[in-house]
Amino acid sequence: MAQTTTSTARQNAVTAITGWQSIGPRVNFRDTPIGDVFGINVFSDSVMRERLSDKVYKAIRATIRKGEPLNPDVADEVAKAMKDWAIEKGATHFTHWFLPMTGLSAEKHDSFLTPGENGEALIEFSGKELIRGEPDASSFPSGGIRATFEARGYTAWDPTSPAFILENPNGTTLCIPTAFCSWTGEALDKKTPLLRSMDAVSKQALRVLKLFGSDATRVAPSCGPEQEYFLIDRNFYFSRPDLLNAGRTLFGSKPPKGQEMEDHYFGAIPERVLACMLETELELYKLGVPVKTRHNEVAPSQYEFAPYFENANVSTDHNMLVMETLKRVSTRYGLQLLLHEKPFAGVNGSGKHLNWSLADDHGNNMLKPGDTPHENAQFLVFLVAVIRAVYKYAELLRVSIATAANDHRLGANEAPPAIISVFLGEMLTDIVEQIEAGAAKSTKKGGTMTIGADVLPPLPRDPGDRNRTSPFAFTGNKFEFRAVGSSQSIGGPNVVLNTIVAESLDYIATELEKTGKSGEALNPEIQKLLQAIIKECKPVLFNGDGYSEDWHKEAAKRGLPNRKTTIDSVPDLIAKKSIELFTKYGVFTERELHSRYEILLENYKKTINIEANLTLQIAQRQILPAALRYQAQVAQSIANVKAAGIAAPKAEESLLKELNDTISTLYNACTKLGHVIDHPADGDAFAHAKYSHATIIPAMNAVREPADKLETLVADDLWPLPTYQEMLFIK
Ligand code: ADP
Ligand code: MG
Repeated sequence: MAQTTTSTARQNAVTAITGWQSIGPRVNFRDTPIGDVFGINVFSDSVMRERLSDKVYKAIRATIRKGEPLNPDVADEVAKAMKDWAIEKGATHFTHWFLPMTGLSAEKHDSFLTPGENGEALIEFSGKELIRGEPDASSFPSGGIRATFEARGYTAWDPTSPAFILENPNGTTLCIPTAFCSWTGEALDKKTPLLRSMDAVSKQALRVLKLFGSDATRVAPSCGPEQEYFLIDRNFYFSRPDLLNAGRTLFGSKPPKGQEMEDHYFGAIPERVLACMLETELELYKLGVPVKTRHNEVAPSQYEFAPYFENANVSTDHNMLVMETLKRVSTRYGLQLLLHEKPFAGVNGSGKHLNWSLADDHGNNMLKPGDTPHENAQFLVFLVAVIRAVYKYAELLRVSIATAANDHRLGANEAPPAIISVFLGEMLTDIVEQIEAGAAKSTKKGGTMTIGADVLPPLPRDPGDRNRTSPFAFTGNKFEFRAVGSSQSIGGPNVVLNTIVAESLDYIATELEKTGKSGEALNPEIQKLLQAIIKECKPVLFNGDGYSEDWHKEAAKRGLPNRKTTIDSVPDLIAKKSIELFTKYGVFTERELHSRYEILLENYKKTINIEANLTLQIAQRQILPAALRYQAQVAQSIANVKAAGIAAPKAEESLLKELNDTISTLYNACTKLGHVIDHPADGDAFAHAKYSHATIIPAMNAVREPADKLETLVADDLWPLPTYQEMLFIK
């Protein structure tokens, strides 16, 4: 009788992949050039100009560009124009699209159709429906802000992020970006605090700019998030309950070949993956998302997309669309998107580099050094403001990226450490040192370099090399926050960055305003102030190797916080310092901070619990049975050798012993894990999360270790789970 084991699933997966046929061109940029598709599904500026009266268009523009409050009177006209436009695009429904605290986007669709008095169909969409929605909010996490019986939550139209059409083969839906808050007006989402933090940083930046004689009326953070991700064949995905339910592998021994040859990074993109990227790009172009670069990343089967930068609010929404579109489109190619920060142990994880700067409404970048930054006082003020912000509030940046998943990455010699420091590079470090010493007098130049082949032109050299190990690096004309997790919304990290920089700009503006000076006379005051700030904040500056042991020691000596895990980091969110900062700038109320603290801990606990249950299930129902089958085969083989009487079955016996020992270890570890899952900690949310961290995670690791060892012992044809080698290299 043929033995059916789950490894049949593995075999089928490999067969499906080798038999995968190109599905033919689904996208044709020759007939529809990218310029023609870009933004066709966006209720964009040009659509508004065409379809709205002059008065209403101007009112909307003022809101978008200057953050002016919107007069509700204009909403009816906008709603009508939006509805007509959407219906021309085949829309039947509209939805208020929002970013609840679950980490995904949420939508509830409403039809444009209303039955009339005589049974006829009316197509309606009023200003009221545009401005406010009321989804049943009881199932979204609120962290105690709202009891479940008070289900009321409101979505409020965000006119500063354009509405768009989501296509489905059978129809389209008008999506209206909205903020989501409780009946009492407290934020239940990621957008509300983001918009508040953008107002805060704009207000303080304008005070500084005014001292330099600028007539700007709005300053907005600009963001370009580089998105890393894995794509693996879906057949493997469905044979791995851990990937399916937890987004990461909970088992798997290291493949014989990992990423050590570094032959994947920037390599040729496999045909199927490139086809998937092209279709994803087409879909994103239609939504007005300016994806710009794509390439292979360091790990096998890992890739990256980066967009052209946009203002923080639009960029946050667009990054959600990048993740969602990629997920949707990849299935059409038999691929599964893995956005988890660490899908495979021992292989690089995925992050999201958040490039961040500030720009005024004339389009000037506040962090652009120019050719002679030592003379560019305004640039130096903004630069030093960011340095001071990171120094003073490093813990808050850390907590903005704290998740159970990101804990696997940070400090694991592939991602920046959990110590938040600032990399400036050689040129700016030199200038900062000059300011500290008394005056900035010169700028180091990079000069040119020749490559040694006459046919190649000499290249201008950047004044400093890159540093991949720094969590917060100055890269030319922006900072790059590199510790953000790949699956995270950039909303949270942005809220912190905007608010802490607002606080620094506020401090600087206040000090400079006190002097009563302006113009040239202000320069010596600026020098004095920046000198004092640099003296105080320079411990945060570090250009060296952030992965090294030495840096950990040195950082401790400098007094920089090192919150190694989420559990170490989360209490900072509700510390006095955090409450004072966020309430001062109207970004979070104390209650809102507490709610976010609860949600973070709750998420952490739930994540670990799901993983622990999966670990147990896979170990007991897939791995142990496979190991026992193999053990029986080896025992049978010993009996056979003995019966034949050729020689003593020594090798077989030691294999049997090793198998038996490992199986016992696995069995005992499972028993222990089952026990700790069944006896959760008493106490509050923090106690629960801490228990998950201190007790459940080690018990899970104790199961994984013998299980991974068994993978190296048990006959391959009996092994139930697709291996790392298969998932990462068969594509
Ligand atoms: P790298 O980090 O390898 O230099 P790229 O230059 O490809 O990567 O990407 C950098 C990212 O930074 C892009 O998404 C780009 O749009 C973004 N970026 C560039 N200038 C700014 C800016 N002023 N503000 C915010 N993001 C920016
Ligand atoms: Mg980068």
